[in-house]
Amino acid sequence: MQITPEVPDCLHIAAHGTRPGGRCPDCGRASRAVHSRYLRRPADLPSLGRKVRVGLRVRRFYCRNAACKRRTFAERLPDLVKPHARRTYRLAEAQGRVGVALGGEAGARLLHRLAMPASADTVLRLIRRLPLPEQDAPRIVGVDDWAMRKGRTYGTIVVDLERRCVVELLPDRTAVTVAAWLQQRPEIEVVARDRSTEYARAAAIGAPKAVQVADRWHLLSNVRAMLERWLARAHARLRRLPVPPGGDGRQLGQRTHAYHRSAADDAASADSRARWLAAYEDVRRRYLAGEKLLTISRSTGLARATVRKYACADSFPERAVRPPGRSNLDPYLAHLEARLAEGCEDAMALWREMRALGHAGGPKMVQRWVAEHRTAPARSTAHKWLQRAPAVTPPGTTPGRPAALPSPKQLAWLLVQPPTALPPLDAAAVTRVEQDKEAAMVASLARRFTALVRLCGIAQTSRPATPLATFDAWLTEARRVGSVPSKRSPPVWSRTVLRCGPP
Ligand SMILES: [Zn+2]
Repeated sequence: MQITPEVPDCLHIAAHGTRPGGRCPDCGRASRAVHSRYLRRPADLPSLGRKVRVGLRVRRFYCRNAACKRRTFAERLPDLVKPHARRTYRLAEAQGRVGVALGGEAGARLLHRLAMPASADTVLRLIRRLPLPEQDAPRIVGVDDWAMRKGRTYGTIVVDLERRCVVELLPDRTAVTVAAWLQQRPEIEVVARDRSTEYARAAAIGAPKAVQVADRWHLLSNVRAMLERWLARAHARLRRLPVPPGGDGRQLGQRTHAYHRSAADDAASADSRARWLAAYEDVRRRYLAGEKLLTISRSTGLARATVRKYACADSFPERAVRPPGRSNLDPYLAHLEARLAEGCEDAMALWREMRALGHAGGPKMVQRWVAEHRTAPARSTAHKWLQRAPAVTPPGTTPGRPAALPSPKQLAWLLVQPPTALPPLDAAAVTRVEQDKEAAMVASLARRFTALVRLCGIAQTSRPATPLATFDAWLTEARRVGSVPSKRSPPVWSRTVLRCGPP
């Protein structure tokens, strides 16, 4: 062993094969006839904190088999290094293991420190060459689809639910592929899946003895999707509901909407709304004329989810109300509101007070805020504007539009939560929506279903009561609600129930 002068910090180990001869890799005939020798320099595991290169003197033998096409072959060293490889087996494994723990880039950085450098791409390649770990056959598996390219190409992921690890990625999501995979594993006892007919068929063909279970995530996701569709249909009606007597859940100094923006921003926003409204009307017209959702999506260029949302909605789904961002005015809101309540509507006077309290901004935003909240026109307002002044509206509302309500998607999420777990603003929105009798009924059904599904997740021994009887009662009621004939809302629940039924 010596330090090579041309590569400092690198140990050089001279080595050669000791077997008397070799075997031809093509015909297998042994040979001792040496044709030539040459030097290989594969990298090896580091030693004494230095990189190691093996100076390997390799022999080339003649193949004496007349029937063999190969004339010469190089000596094989199956315990040390692959033919043509630039690193020994043990170094490749060590680098691959580091990659498994850290990934490509981080692995490459650490390997450089450990005196066995490799690029990030090489680390990834070495990971792929490592043998897969030995695993016991899975007993309980979950199957679902995953997107290689969302909206285009989907595969199937199979997860071992006991060990919580992925056991297989299949190239598509057809019943044939999944069934073939299941058929090779007769020890599978339970298949958890979504409720697509394709996976149901796959499990029925591939693992006919296994119990099929609709997994909880999909049950909860479906109930929320159904709720969202129902809300999208009823949203226009729900928006007209008044704010309940208890208030909108807003605390002093808390904002529910963004500050008023400039006229140019408002105009841009109105333009955008008009474009989406036109798109909505187009989709509705085509849908009611009997066109299919996919056809509408292709001819209008709208996403399929948007087309479906528009087709189901009785009225134009307004943009979701986003929580307001931070503003320099926020720390002074409580002061402003208190002064407004005392009757002070002079924006400049308020701004001077705020400046004394430490506010660093100009008077413009205070003027805008006061303009939104004042109960009477300012004294300085010119006579000509007074005549066109719009009716003054209560705080928190925009002129001409009812108080904002969360979007169907946001509401669907709020309605399945336990009411006690909601912050005051959200709880107030739920209370407002539940003034509608049908909405209250639908929300109650969704909440009970969610609680039931969560109950099923508790271990059987500690479960308070058998949920099956509760489920049957729920099912009966849901069917009754779903079958209420109503022009406004087609029987959403019957569909939900049918899709939520036990597998
Ligand atoms: Zn040969």
